[in-house]
Amino acid sequence: MSDKRIPMRKCVGCNKMHPKNEMLKITKRDQEIVLDYSHKNNGRSAYLCSKEECLKLALKNKGFERSLKCKMPMTLIEIVKQEIS
Ligand SMILES: [Zn+2]
Repeated sequence: MSDKRIPMRKCVGCNKMHPKNEMLKITKRDQEIVLDYSHKNNGRSAYLCSKEECLKLALKNKGFERSLKCKMPMTLIEIVKQEIS
């Protein structure tokens, strides 16, 4: 039985729905893009599975750019990489 209370979000890499609390959230806050550890920042956000494969897909299909409507900074890509590995 699935628990419908868990919010699902679409991964910008694999484009599949996953429970929000198992994913990384990247948020555009003011003019800055941050990795939102607390999941509490408001603003335009992109969600990603904690998988290197999904990060690679997201970079390839420009999923971050599509969700955030701006370019994903290299420095943040590095932070996400470290978070996954
Ligand atoms: Zn994914």
